[in-house]
Amino acid sequence: MTRPVRVRIAPSPTGDPHVGTAYIALFNLAFARQHRGKFVLRIEDTDQARSNRDSEEMIFASLRWLGLSWDEGPDVGGPFGPYRQSERTAIYQQHAKTLIESGAAYRCFCTKERLEEMRLDQQRFKRSPGYDGRCRDLPPGEVEALVAERAPFTVRLRAPKEEEVVCQDRLRGAIAFQGREIDDQILLKADGYPTYHLANVVDDHLMEITHVIRAEEWISSTPKHVLLYRAFDWPPPEFIHMPLLRNQDKSKISKRRNPCSLNYYRDAGYLPAALLNFLALQGWSMPPKEDGTEVDRFTLEEFFAHFNIDRVKTGGPVFDLKKLEAINGDHIRRKSVDEIAALLKEHAGRWFEKTAHFLHDRLDKLSDFARYTDFLFRDDLGRDPALLRPYAGDRQETAKRLKTLTEEFEQVVPWKPATITDLLARFVARHGLDRKEFFMLLRVAVTGSTVSPPLDESIAALDRFVVLERLRAAAKTIREMKPAP
Ligand code: GLU
Repeated sequence: MTRPVRVRIAPSPTGDPHVGTAYIALFNLAFARQHRGKFVLRIEDTDQARSNRDSEEMIFASLRWLGLSWDEGPDVGGPFGPYRQSERTAIYQQHAKTLIESGAAYRCFCTKERLEEMRLDQQRFKRSPGYDGRCRDLPPGEVEALVAERAPFTVRLRAPKEEEVVCQDRLRGAIAFQGREIDDQILLKADGYPTYHLANVVDDHLMEITHVIRAEEWISSTPKHVLLYRAFDWPPPEFIHMPLLRNQDKSKISKRRNPCSLNYYRDAGYLPAALLNFLALQGWSMPPKEDGTEVDRFTLEEFFAHFNIDRVKTGGPVFDLKKLEAINGDHIRRKSVDEIAALLKEHAGRWFEKTAHFLHDRLDKLSDFARYTDFLFRDDLGRDPALLRPYAGDRQETAKRLKTLTEEFEQVVPWKPATITDLLARFVARHGLDRKEFFMLLRVAVTGSTVSPPLDESIAALDRFVVLERLRAAAKTIREMKPAP
């Protein structure tokens, strides 16, 4: 008897909810629907330093907004919980122990300093990277002594160096990896937390996942996973690696070139149906109509009805916002006027909720809102030389500074007034800037006006990508503007 289909997404809750998470969720859910299986949401929060609950909440909220619902997860429960990896550490430790006992893994006592030295040597002598195996075959007596004196250790996978490891991918067939290229991956860190590889495999097994549908970038991790399944003597799931979402130049989608946060798409007023239609077309296509015409506009239900994983093409699709906009326009046209009125009301309502706190002490009548919030909706800001000129100062210097600030804005988490204020204060101090002057430059670049609500509030009300775009545009405008007459 074949096992009931169970698939999952396993996002790590760091930063903004990523459009790639929605893309992979969509294909998992379609696969589960097609096979009357279950779709599981597991939170992979083993990176203690980077994971946070805010980010987890945003993942839930944005997937719900898109209508991609899950059968089991940290919020809805289920028979295979807990679904948050930080609540499962004892399970991973137990499994690491099993691997040590069978010899499939070993304790490594190398210190951070020793590993750093090793890395530097590898660079210097152009040797291949990866652990050099110093602790791989320590005499058992020595290991016992070190454990007895409580020397800290990590647990590493004992990758077979002489063997070829073959991974099966449903879309690509067999992919072979040479054993000597597979690192003795750390499975359990010195603090007792698992790494992605161990936790992912243990959970996929214990949660009875039958098909792992995830992004192409995980292919290189798959041989390690296959080795782990083998070491535990568990049947591996079927692997299906989806083509990556890509920038125009075919590199992996990045927040520098494309809005990656699902919050952006929601705030910009894309309809869930349109975004899902667009994501479905990244690598997949609807079977053509009988007369051969292509079908590239469809609802989620139509997608589910025609879904077949084997129609996924592995050639990298390109993430094209223009195309998304066209699709979105068509989905809007499919709605009735009444439906659009309702959607507009909801959309505007979200913006007002975001801005009411700073409109509160500025409005004399409600309709004044337009004056204070038009910057939220414009897409031409940061480009007007006349507006920017008075604050441009030494043009090359200013352009460079804006670029540095843009890079720092990319890293701010969470994207909130307080963290933005913090960053700006540090930035001004570090570069010895005149705060008033510099803030005016930013205000003009981001809001197109010298009078706007507080700068940090204005910036935080916008999506990060929009702010970065305006700052980049302003840097370019300033760099290229003619010197003042
Ligand atoms: N935690 C990984 C991620 O953030 C999961 C990858 C996988 O699906 O195995 O995408």
